Formats: sequence, C-alpha cells, structure tokens
Amino acid sequence: MKLCMAANWKMHKTQSQAGETAAELVRILGSNLPQDREVVLIPPFTALHAVSQALTSAPGFVLGAQNFYPADQGAFTGEIGPDMLLDHGCSLALAGHSERRHVLGEDNEFVAQKVRFGLDKGLRMILCIGETLQQRDSGQLETVLHDQLSTALSGLQLSNLESRLLIAYEPVWAIGTGKVAQPEDIAQAHAYVRKELTTLLPQSGQSVPILYGGSVKPDNIAQIIGIDNVNGVLVGGAGLEAESMAQIAMGTAQ
Ligand code: PEP
Repeated sequence: MKLCMAANWKMHKTQSQAGETAAELVRILGSNLPQDREVVLIPPFTALHAVSQALTSAPGFVLGAQNFYPADQGAFTGEIGPDMLLDHGCSLALAGHSERRHVLGEDNEFVAQKVRFGLDKGLRMILCIGETLQQRDSGQLETVLHDQLSTALSGLQLSNLESRLLIAYEPVWAIGTGKVAQPEDIAQAHAYVRKELTTLLPQSGQSVPILYGGSVKPDNIAQIIGIDNVNGVLVGGAGLEAESMAQIAMGTAQ
C-alpha cells in the first residue's frame, strides 16, 4: 500500500499563490519522491486549475478537492459537482472533514451520501472521521468512530475499494491546535479503525489506507508515520508552505 501524504489548503491561497506553492513543491521533490508514496494537494476550488497546471508531468502528485455536492447537476446554488472536479483534473475528494461537520453542520448521513456518490463518479474518496475532546473524555471514542464509519461504508459493494477509498482519522481536538495525539492514542484509534474496516469491508478493509491528521509537522512526521496502521497523513497548517510540506512528504519512520 502506498503512503499518502495529503495537504488540505482549506480557505487559503489565491490561484497564483496556490500555483506557485505547488510548483515549488514539485521543484523541491522533483524526482526524489520515493515510489512508495503519493503527495495529494487539496486547494480551494478557485485554485484547482492553477494547481492542476503546476502538477502537469509531476509523477506521484495527485490533485484533490475539499468538497462537492452529491448530485450530477441542478439547482444547488453555490455548490460544485463531481463532474466539475473531474473536469479540472481532480481524482480525489475529501468528505466529512471536521470543519464541515462541526462548523458547517454536516451529519453522518450527508457525509455518507458524498462518499458513495463520489466513489460512483470515479473519484477516490478520503473519509475523515474523529472525535471531539468531550466525546473522548466521556468514553465515546469507539462509538463515534463506529457511527461515522458504518454510516458511510455499510453495504458498500464496489470493487477495488482499497485503491479508491482512504480513511483519515483526525481527532478534532488535535486539528489546528498544535496538540498532537500521543503515539499510543493514535495506535489505539487506528487499530480500532482497521478492525471496523475489516468488518465493514471484508474484501478490502485490510488494505484501505488509514491516514492520521492533527497538527502533523516536519518534526513529528517520523514518529507518526512509524505507528502501526498509519498509512499516511492529512496535513493542514504545516502543508501550506512548500518547504515544510516537502519535509513531511519525505518523512520516514523513526
Ligand atoms: C486538517 O485540517 O485536516 C488538519 C489536520 O489540520 P492541522 O494539520 O493544521 O492540524
């Protein structure tokens, strides 16, 4: 399974800034990017074209989108559909990021619709899951992860899911806060996610990559990537600068 090193640029960067950062990252990594990994750049919609241009002929790089509405087309003012993303060179999209769940009010059912619709349209999907501090402190970690995973994945019958679906475990309290979960907490949560995946997806669950997200930086990537069942990372803040994202992308286990 390839390591997936993904940078979510959220609502940052104009198209020229995004294009420049992507081009710089390609320049730094060049042909050094090991074959065992891919780098996913996930800019805002308005910068997809510029980043797509910068990634032309950059092996190992993938263009992703932060969101879409699960419909082909129609009266959905302000929304973007999967066909529009594919048309821009995107091959992957996020669903269920904690900011969409907790700031924009998306629930498990809506996230599930996006995962299923995106997969049907041919996008690879990163399903983001994770608990709030209050849920963790009240002993609900496994219940929350179970509900998020099972709503999105129960009964999914698609073939080759291991190359089309990724999970990102991102404890909400570790996102953008500088607080990194302890290695044993990450190992425990990822082991639970792996167990759930093998139950929910008997054919592919063992091979679906599980990424960790939450204040990943150049100075903690080596430790995080060495934890069992961590198959990559989803990075916010530290992925905004090319130099720092390049260090993360090249990270090897301690
Ligand atoms: C994220 O937004 O998915 C994230 C992990 O952010 P940060 O790396 O800034 O914590």
